Parts: sequence; structure tokens; C-alpha cells
Amino acid sequence: MEVIDQIRQASSIIEIASQYTSLRLRGKRHVGLCPFHPEKAPSFTVDEEKQLYHCFGCGAGGDIFTLVMEKENLSFPEALKFLAEKYNITLPERRKMSPQLKKLEEQLSKINEDTLAFFKKNLFKTKEGEKALSYLQKRKISPEIIQKLKIGYALNSWDSLISFFQGKGVQPNLLEKAGLALHSEKKKGYYDRFRGRIIFPIFTESGKPVAFGGRTIFDAEPKYLNSPDTPIYIKGKLLYGMNFCKDDIRKKGYVILVEGYTDFLTLFQAGITNLAASLGTSLTSDQVSFARRFASRMIVSYDADKPGIKAAERAISLCFEKGVQIRVLSLPQGFDPDSYIHKFGGDKFKELAQKSTPGLKFLIDTHLQKIKEESAEEKAQIAKNIVIEIEKIPDPVVRSEYLKQTSEQLSIDENILRSMIKRKSTEEKEMEKGTFLNAEKRLLQILLEEKEIAPYIFAEIKEEYFHGLKSKPIFNALSENFRKGKSSSLHELKQKVDPTLISSLSKAMLEKEQNASVEEAFECLNTLKQLSLENLARKLNAELAQLERKGEKEKILPLIKQIQDTKKELSILSKRNYQNLSYSNRDGVELERSE
Ligand SMILES: [Zn+2]
Repeated sequence: MEVIDQIRQASSIIEIASQYTSLRLRGKRHVGLCPFHPEKAPSFTVDEEKQLYHCFGCGAGGDIFTLVMEKENLSFPEALKFLAEKYNITLPERRKMSPQLKKLEEQLSKINEDTLAFFKKNLFKTKEGEKALSYLQKRKISPEIIQKLKIGYALNSWDSLISFFQGKGVQPNLLEKAGLALHSEKKKGYYDRFRGRIIFPIFTESGKPVAFGGRTIFDAEPKYLNSPDTPIYIKGKLLYGMNFCKDDIRKKGYVILVEGYTDFLTLFQAGITNLAASLGTSLTSDQVSFARRFASRMIVSYDADKPGIKAAERAISLCFEKGVQIRVLSLPQGFDPDSYIHKFGGDKFKELAQKSTPGLKFLIDTHLQKIKEESAEEKAQIAKNIVIEIEKIPDPVVRSEYLKQTSEQLSIDENILRSMIKRKSTEEKEMEKGTFLNAEKRLLQILLEEKEIAPYIFAEIKEEYFHGLKSKPIFNALSENFRKGKSSSLHELKQKVDPTLISSLSKAMLEKEQNASVEEAFECLNTLKQLSLENLARKLNAELAQLERKGEKEKILPLIKQIQDTKKELSILSKRNYQNLSYSNRDGVELERSE
């Protein structure tokens, strides 16, 4: 049995949900005040039998995994671990991997280890390395820091690394996979990616080198060069320096985030070791999640110029989304963290960190600075922009507090700001209403839950039956899983399908009252088939009319044939159709399905 199923069997969604709200049994279900939005009357519903929850107020919904992921701020594997520990289930050591991929990963890891040693040797034991060392000295990087961060040097040669590995029997195509060599079509050969550069190895949090960054000492372009994505390294997922700093980050409860190696080096050397760098690329949502595993607060310190401000705004937005508390450390104009430390020292920097600006205030200030004159329209626009950001915050209490602060800072009535959020959520509710046709909804219930019947339906399903239906992405994902022999669940669909759709789906799953028969399942499928054929016939008729107007006779005949075929198919279907048509409501269908 898969570990996911094991957990599902051993766990109780009622027990887990009761940690976040108190539940009462009402009929077959448990209800309580929603832990995802503030409310006075309970609209949060948990179904023990189905192991699902849904809030009829805010649309939150899913299974035990999504509940834990959202309430504990965890990724899916972390939620698995969380539940496995709670219910004493042993997790398999490593996710299953093909033997080839596993072997490749091992080879690349070994190559990185050897490369790290090679670059280090270059720095200390070669003539060229002396030049690199004196560059580092000029930048006031101490020998201890060079050792600690395992800084190295790539010789200014086209093939020093390739020859080093050839001596070990490692072929250049493998170095290419490791991101260390490049292939030249012209010369029909390989050459080293890093040449004449000081090398900063990039480690995983546990200290394994997985990539390299290099700074030229020959004024080559680009100034900084990083490894590309490889099977063991994906750029926007790691933060530089986490392996050195994670303990201090955990201890202090916050991480200071800078952009590049230089800033990192200087701050680290100045004794600021709750630190990480996003490495030139703009901060990603994955990186924020990564940082959140070590601390729930973040201080970003970027350059005091326009791109720096933009980067800070982006970081704020991402942190709001991930529920990370963020502050912005503002340096005096014209400074970056590196130059500031060299002029004023680490203690002054720490003072600035203490006085850093809360993310929300920074956002509002930045917006206010952008406007030319304070008009009602400009103010409305700012309010709108800020509310959009606040809405992303998962915690309703924080959201509410932020709205209050925004109201004070912009001197706009708090209730107006709140109504801006509310109006949107009623709009969303409207959209949600009638999302699924009855046949569509029933089919979703069957495909997700009735494992005996589902295979018959999947065998018949064609993508075109769902054309124009809101649930099309869900059906596509379900079919894809079926083809791959995987079972589907809400938490898994949540990765692939829009959240509002998942919300409707979780509601639909709760509304399931009885099990279906194979006949009923086919009846639903036929209804959808019919609708898609009717739509097709309508479309073809419109085309026909157009051709007739244009007098394009040669195209008319095949089209008529196609229309006849469609109608024949429709009539066969309707004869095969079952008496009970209670699952096909066709109101509004045309509107929804016409393009
Ligand atoms: Zn709710």
C-alpha cells in the first residue's frame, strides 16, 4: 500500500481539524467556525467518511493533506511527514527513482565533489591562483572566510577541468550534464564553462556542492556566471549560504536576504550569519518557501536604487503569499550592503536591521512616492493595489490587522477597504455558483471516488466531450493520472488545477450522497457527449451558412456530410440514453459552451 493511503487510513480528519477549530456533529457531518476565514456562524464542514472538508463561506476545501499543508504552512512532503509522525507510520527513505536517474545523480554529485577540490587546489597551488588570491585580499576577504566558504578558482583555460576529469576516466558529455562543460558545434568538441573566475560553490542545506558561481578576474562578460539547471540543481529553489547559516537563522528566528555573493561575503565576514543570498535572479516563490523552513521572518536588504526597490516589492508580495513576515532594510542612498559594511561596519548594519521597515509600510510608502499629485483617483488606485497584496495573506488575523494599518496610513475608512475584499469574494462566489452542470458534477464524483466504475469511463472519455466545460482541466488531469496508473486525490489535483476549481470540486465531493451504478456513470458521460455533439452541429451549421453565402460549393458537400454524421451519432446516442435524465440539466448550457 502506498504511504499516502496508509496515512489516509490511519488518520482522522476530524481529529486534525479539531486542532484548528471546535467541531460539532450535525447530521452526518461535523461543522464548526472556519479556521481559514473569520466568521460568526459555522460554515466549515468536515465529512469523516469521505475524509474531506469544505467551507461554504470562503470556499476553502480539500482533504487531510491540504488541511495540514495550509494550516501548518507545509509543503506536501512535509505534510506527509507531519501526519506520518503523528500516526506512527514509517515513511520510505527516498522517493522512488529510476535506477538510471539515480546513477546519474550519483555521478553528478561525485563530479561536483571532485570539481570543488580541483577549484580549491587551483586557488592555492597555482601561479594563476595567486592572482585570484590577491584579488580576494584586495576585496578584504579573509583567509578564514575563503576556507569556510570553500572558495576556489577556475583556471583561465579552455580545457583544464575537462583534462582533469579525462585523467579520471570521466567523459566530457557527463561534465556537460553537470553544467561544467559546453559543447561547441563549430569545433566539434567540449570546453570548460568556467574560465578565469573565482568560484563560489553552491551547496544544498546539508552541505553538498550542487552548482558553482564564478566571478571573472579578467573583466570577461558576464561578470558573474552561474551553473545552469542540472538534474541535481534547479536555480530558483535554493538559497546560497543556507548550509552555513541555517542554525543561526533558526536561532535568531529570521533570515537576512541579500542578492549576490559579494553582499553575502561581506556580511558573513562582518559576523552577520543569519544570512542567505538569492543569487542574482529575482527572488522566487520556491526560495521563500525554502527560507520559511528555517524562519518565519525575513529581512531583505537590496540596493537602494530603482531595481532594488522593485526587488523588495516583489519579495513582499511573495512573502505575503507564503505567510512570511517581511521587513525591508533601507540603506542610505548610493550604498549597497557591501559598501555600507566597509564604511560603517557590521554593528551599524545590525542596527539598521533592527530599524527596518515592515513590508506593508514599505509598500504603501513606495506607492505614495510614485504619485505626482495626491488626487482621489491616485489614492483609490493605491488602495486597490495594496488590497490586492493583502488579500494574498493566508492568515485572516494578519489580513485584518494589515487592512487596519492601511486605512490609518492612507486615511481611508477601514470599512471601505474591507468591502473591497468582500466585493471580490462575492464575485468569486457568483462565479462558483453553477460551476458544474449536474452530469459533469456527478461524473467528477464518480471518477474520483468510485474506483470500480471509473476505469470503464476513462476508457471512453475523449477530451472533446469536455470542450467549453469549466471542469475540463480537472478531467484532463484525472485522465492523465489514469493513463499513468496513478490514483487522483484533491491534494494532488491542487498542484495542477486552479484553486477556485478545486474549491468547487471539494464542494461537489461533499455533496455526493450515494454511490453510482455503471449505468448512471455512462448516462452522465452520454449527456456530456450529446452536449458536445450538439455544440459541434451548431458550429458546423453556422459554417455551412457562411459557405452558402460565399457560394463556395466545393466545400459545402463535405460539410453537409459531416453534419449528417454528427446528427446520426446524436440520434444513436439519444436512443441509447437512459430513461432517468435527472443528471442532465441543460439550462444555460448553450451560453456556457458556445465560444
Ligand atoms: Zn472559510
